[in-house]
Amino acid sequence: MGSPGMNFPNSEFKPLDPEEFRRQAHQMVDFIADYYNKIASYPVLSQVQPGYLLAQLPQNAPYLPESLDTILKDITNSIIPGMTHWLSPNFFAFFPATVSTAAFLGEMLCTSFNSVGFNWLASPAATELEMVVIDWLANMLKLPKSFMFSGTGGGVIQGTTSEAILVTLAAARDRALDFIGSENIKKLVVYSSDQTHSTFMKASKLVGISPKNIRSIPTYLDSCFSLSPVLLRRAVDADVASGLVPLYLCATVGTTSTTAVDLLGPLADVAKDYGIWVHVDAAYGGSACICPEFRHYLNGVERVDSISLSPHKWLLSYLDCCCLWVKQPGLLVKALSTNPEYLRNKPSDCDSVVDYKDWQVGTGRRFKSLRLWLVIRNYGVANLQNHIRSDIRLAKIFEGLLKV
Ligand SMILES: *Cc1c(COP(=O)(O)O)cnc(C)c1O
Repeated sequence: MGSPGMNFPNSEFKPLDPEEFRRQAHQMVDFIADYYNKIASYPVLSQVQPGYLLAQLPQNAPYLPESLDTILKDITNSIIPGMTHWLSPNFFAFFPATVSTAAFLGEMLCTSFNSVGFNWLASPAATELEMVVIDWLANMLKLPKSFMFSGTGGGVIQGTTSEAILVTLAAARDRALDFIGSENIKKLVVYSSDQTHSTFMKASKLVGISPKNIRSIPTYLDSCFSLSPVLLRRAVDADVASGLVPLYLCATVGTTSTTAVDLLGPLADVAKDYGIWVHVDAAYGGSACICPEFRHYLNGVERVDSISLSPHKWLLSYLDCCCLWVKQPGLLVKALSTNPEYLRNKPSDCDSVVDYKDWQVGTGRRFKSLRLWLVIRNYGVANLQNHIRSDIRLAKIFEGLLKV
């Protein structure tokens, strides 16, 4: 039912009236704060059966407006009981999905501006803030200058690791096909370990790698499930001997099953001998490397081609925020750029700016760097390091409990 004061269905319907926005948004913030207060009282894993919601909600959209009060009642009665509460303090599945007030406030700004910064001109601040923040995080991780805008590389915020792997695979593929000819795409081979995230297989197929050329090298408990450079070289040699072309290695710092770490230096040494593009998937574990005592897990990173890390996992940033750094942005742009008449403009034509549409799959993009910027500024590197260290202390306590 429509409530008094609503501007519909008369002719003065105003979807974004600032005063109405203020009133309803305050109400929503209260609702969310109450949810956070109550969250520990819900069962972490939803208790509903498949189809429970379809049976509760009407099959047709309402023709007349409904009030926020009515909608929030349905959230409480129908939606919340059907949720798995990822933010519950009792949630221990998968990986953490850490969040924070600062990131939430950044998300509010991101959404409120609705800036669609596909190229520099479409929203200069969106592009340049992303460049600043991605360099900040690179500095926090002590990445070499070769990955930074202030050096010779650069970075971009992708949605997920899957996209980071997909776009770097596309760049590596096109570089290789320039040499061997696109008719030879079925000769390209990609490498990972049997611990690598399944998204690598998906991305490889998406860029046209033949499924029989996706190598998954076995790992063993006695090397803590780390990918062996010896086994990698053996696999690559066998492929070269049979006329195939090694293309790309996806190494992992912090695997999904056991947070195993592949040693980047020795793997990069093998890759270098064959011109293989090395990508580092540090989605979860990489965040720990903002602490000097854990930075050694990235030793050798100066010799790889690209690295991705998702602050939405361990750096308080809400989904989705996956940072990708590359040494040769030009290769990404070459693989992904488009230049339609309706997006042409002077700064882009002069190559004087970064147009992030050429660094990602889609065209439109949100002002997501605001979230990460607020997190880093509002907490400071010191608190982010404290957050990592405190989690690791808890993990050590848990390890001690398991050992007895
Ligand atoms: C979580 C995780 C992924 C998947 O990340 P998405 O951002 O959901 O695509 C990939 N690799 C590792 C090591 C992960 O921990």
